[in-house]
Amino acid sequence: MLEITDLSAGYGQVNALRGISLSISDGEILAVIGANGAGKTTLLKTIAGQLPAKSGRIMFDGADVTRLPTFERARQGIILVPEGRRLFKSLTVEENLQVGLSAKRPGPWSLASVYELFPLVADRRHRRAGDMSGGEQQATAIARALVANPKVLLLDEVSLGLAPAIIADLYASLPTILAHGTSILLVEQDVAQALKVADEVHCLLQGSTSLTGAGFEMPEISRAYFGS
Ligand code: ATP
Repeated sequence: MLEITDLSAGYGQVNALRGISLSISDGEILAVIGANGAGKTTLLKTIAGQLPAKSGRIMFDGADVTRLPTFERARQGIILVPEGRRLFKSLTVEENLQVGLSAKRPGPWSLASVYELFPLVADRRHRRAGDMSGGEQQATAIARALVANPKVLLLDEVSLGLAPAIIADLYASLPTILAHGTSILLVEQDVAQALKVADEVHCLLQGSTSLTGAGFEMPEISRAYFGS
C-alpha cells in the first residue's frame, strides 16, 4: 500500500535521511526504531509531505505522491499524529476532533466510534485540550487523526513522556484501529514496546537503514540501534 524507494531528505545542508526503502501492506504495523537523531521524525514528516524529499519515491496505493502537498496526501489517506501531539490547546477536545473531520474521507471512523475507542476522550469532550493530562492529549491526537479515516496512520513517539499504564492503554487501541482497515507506521524509541506490536521493524542509524525485517533477536537489534 505504501512503498518508499531510496528516499533521502533533510534540512538545508543536513542530510537527515539517506536512501531509505520500506513498504507497508494492508493491515500491517511497521515500527521504525532508532536512537535520538536517527531520522525517525524526518521520515514521518517526509511521508506526510511536511518536508520535501531530496530524492527517491513515495508510492501510495499505486500512485506517486512524492511531490504532493500535505493536504493532498491527507485527502488520500496518509495522516500523521505528530510528535508532541500539536493539539489546539485553547480549543475543546471536540473542537480539536472537528479539525480532523475537515479532512474526512469516507470510512468507519466518526466522532461516535473514536469516543467508543477512547472513553476518556469522550468524557472530556467539552474540556480545553490544554487542561488534559499527557495521556489524554495523546489519545485526543490519535482520535483527531482517526476521524479523517486514514488508510495509513503515522504515529510519532506515542509513548514519549507517558506513564507505563497509559502507554499500555494507548497501545491496546492499535488492534481495533487495524481491524477498521487502517495500517500503522509507528516511530518508537522504546524498542521492547515496538517489538510487542509490530509485524516488521525498520531500524535507522544516523539517517540510514541498519536493519529491516522481522524475527530478530535482541543482540542483533541492539547492534543495529547503537551501531556497535
Ligand atoms: P528524536 O527521537 O530525538 O526525535 P529522530 O530519530 O526523530 O530523533 P530527527 O528528529 O528526524 O531524529 O532528526 C534527524 C537529524 O536531523 C538530527 O541530526 C537532527 O538534529 C536533524 N534535524 C531535525 N530537525 C531539524 C531541523 N528543523 N533543522 C536542522 N536539522 C534538523
